[in-house]
Amino acid sequence: MFKFRPKPTVERDATEEEIKNIKKTEEMLDKEKKLPPASQMIRNLAVDHWKSLKAFVKGKEVIVPQEEAERRWEICKACPELLYDETNPDTGKKDGRCPHCGCFMNVKVHYAVAECPLEKWEKFEKK
Ligand code: SF4
Repeated sequence: MFKFRPKPTVERDATEEEIKNIKKTEEMLDKEKKLPPASQMIRNLAVDHWKSLKAFVKGKEVIVPQEEAERRWEICKACPELLYDETNPDTGKKDGRCPHCGCFMNVKVHYAVAECPLEKWEKFEKK
């Protein structure tokens, strides 16, 4: 049986700052629950980079034209799955994150090898 029961040493109410930090942490944990595990996200990224490298070596497109990236981004923005208001640590900009792959979509939409996990984008073919 576990006998140690910590008791508060000081009787007091939580400060506004503490309550704010608790809410912020809970929001962060809620968002994390919606994303795949970090190991899966790293694997997804590595696979996309590997596919891009193969495409580059074979002389294929690595980056889609701007209008294709914008078309994809419009589909993501209309997607109810997209998690908004994330800050991409690489770009420092606000971005939307897909809960299925964990990717920052404002970046991913530019990769020719990238695919929507729910197949909402058309496959990119060079015209
Ligand atoms: S990649 Fe697909 S599933 Fe993910 S946010 Fe974009 S449209 Fe939605």
